[in-house]
Amino acid sequence: MTAASVPPAGGTADRAGGGASPAPGTVRRAICPGSFDPVTNGHLDIIGRAAELYDEVVVAVFVNQVKSSLFSSDERRDMLVESTAQYGNVAIDTFEGLVVDYCRAHGIPVIVKGLRAVSDFDYELQMAQMNRGLAGVDTLFMPTNPEYSFLASSLVKEIAKWGGDVSALVPPNVLKRLTDRSGTPGRA
Ligand code: ADP
Repeated sequence: MTAASVPPAGGTADRAGGGASPAPGTVRRAICPGSFDPVTNGHLDIIGRAAELYDEVVVAVFVNQVKSSLFSSDERRDMLVESTAQYGNVAIDTFEGLVVDYCRAHGIPVIVKGLRAVSDFDYELQMAQMNRGLAGVDTLFMPTNPEYSFLASSLVKEIAKWGGDVSALVPPNVLKRLTDRSGTPGRA
């Protein structure tokens, strides 16, 4: 499955809300939405674990015209394509609008979100309840790997901007783009 082949709804995966025992032949599909500006090892940990739980996972880059980002949506998508190439069941896409509309259009019943700390939970719970109420789309929360509980794209950008070493926080392809962008080689 590639970015260009995220299937529309109406196929085999349009059971809203998921379920413990899907009909035979049902494709279990989930979405990991986010800004991914840029993708970090924390994101990749969640994406990899979601790929083990579901038949197909769509990682959707949320395009926000108002919020300024370091990388364009195409760059963010490309970095995700490169760093998830080892998964045969992960597709990357970009979207603008509501996650639940994307889910409806593509027959995706579940949103997967990583939780780093209690501070994430307040906002994420509100969003999850709203999405369930709006469209019957459920949210699965995955506790982050403790190794990445402090990790956020904003932090990575700030450290890289000042030449700090982020090589343990992002995959090599992202490290290269960050270094190229900041013009400062990472230091230990
Ligand atoms: P941020 O800019 O805060 O890094 P994104 O919008 O790019 O967030 O992230 C999308 C989703 O990825 C978040 O809602 C969160 O569920 C998850 N996520 C982000 N960073 C981590 C991390 N370090 N560990 C686990 N999950 C994370």
